[in-house]
Amino acid sequence: MMSDKTDYTPDIASLYQELGVRKEVLEFGREIEAGLKERFAAIDETAEYNQLKVIQAMQKNQVSEGCFHYASGYGYNDAGRDTLEDVYASVFHTESALVRPQITCGTHALAIALSANLRPGDELLSPVGKPYDTLEEVIGIRPSKGSLAEYGVSYSQVELLEDGTFDYENIRKAIHEKTKMVTIQRSKGYQTRPSFSVEQIGELIHFVKDIRPDIICMVDNCYGEFVETIEPSDLGADLVVGSLIKNPGGGLAPIGGYIAGRKDLIDACGYRLTSPGLGKEVGASLGVMQSFYQGLFLAPTVTAGALKGAVFAANIYERLGYPVIPDGRESRHDIIQAVTFGKPEGVIAFCKGIQSAAPVDSFVTPIPWAMPGYDSDVIMAAGAFVQGSSIELSADGPIKPPYAVYFQGGLTWPHARLGILMSLEYLVREGVVNLC
Ligand SMILES: *Cc1c(COP(=O)(O)O)cnc(C)c1O
Repeated sequence: MMSDKTDYTPDIASLYQELGVRKEVLEFGREIEAGLKERFAAIDETAEYNQLKVIQAMQKNQVSEGCFHYASGYGYNDAGRDTLEDVYASVFHTESALVRPQITCGTHALAIALSANLRPGDELLSPVGKPYDTLEEVIGIRPSKGSLAEYGVSYSQVELLEDGTFDYENIRKAIHEKTKMVTIQRSKGYQTRPSFSVEQIGELIHFVKDIRPDIICMVDNCYGEFVETIEPSDLGADLVVGSLIKNPGGGLAPIGGYIAGRKDLIDACGYRLTSPGLGKEVGASLGVMQSFYQGLFLAPTVTAGALKGAVFAANIYERLGYPVIPDGRESRHDIIQAVTFGKPEGVIAFCKGIQSAAPVDSFVTPIPWAMPGYDSDVIMAAGAFVQGSSIELSADGPIKPPYAVYFQGGLTWPHARLGILMSLEYLVREGVVNLC
């Protein structure tokens, strides 16, 4: 018999089964997914807008093949680096940007932005409660070598109101003549407060600038890039800061961070990163430029895939009766999803499932472990191409009440979907969830 190509239908269900997802889990997932068409269409529309925005920025700044050339040594006139920084400035609609492989991570980028623009006697204010864990040592909330506190920069903090909104009355009281800079964290990170929309952040910046227009407003933009069609710099932020192994690196950047904002403030960041007098003029790009450009090019759709995964997981686990933050219907302002299982077995099974779906290290079994800086054992699942990358599908959970797992990423929506189905598969296998 002649084979008839048109008769060939890929048997997706069998392939899922071969990968370990049983039929009941797949069918449950399909049912949940069927209800998410409108949500996903909206996410695709945001990605479409942001994709055009990025392409426009690359065209406007005449990105060329020469931008990918290897540069070594001092890196004077490194055109790839300088053009990339112009592209970031165009994407974020800012005067300038600093985007470098010499910025080792998000914390480093934030530390540069703060220490470059604060001087002894100045005060930093967080009007949104406690900042991200690693920032506590940068600021000196927890005593630490080289912190801002050691250099005579003071810090004050205004807690959010009970409902997660801004306490404008106390923010007004906390601003005085020493207040030089305000830091606003967009994503909840690993806290239970809501993440802020860009519009909310814009209102807060407006409020601060109404009191004192010269206060520098910085936004920790980690995990938020390309989730919406505008960024905090579109609504008044003087500096936006983030990591390239999260959203804007698109999964391809192997290292790096960015700071975009007002030219004088970015120049100060350059002097702080390299040296007074040298600033942005030095810092060779060492052949990573193509991954930075191409990663940025992919970032809008990669972020969309991660967002679909987060929405899918929220709806799956909500339907199964577990508390999820954000909930299944809420609008999204970052790519992090929290699911509370209420018992350690749930957190462990979830992480095993995520790990088993990875393209790298899928055969490894994650187990809870004591980690520096944590007061309980922590379990982490990651099978990433770039170490520690959290735009790639990853999950982690401290083994302590309320036994919540935080997960994020997924370079493609099909991979995020597989990871979440595998998490459910493991919860069923280990008797935590019963689908019947
Ligand atoms: C990840 C993150 C950081 C720190 O980034 P690292 O690259 O891990 O140093 C800071 N703030 C927020 C909100 C983050 O999510």
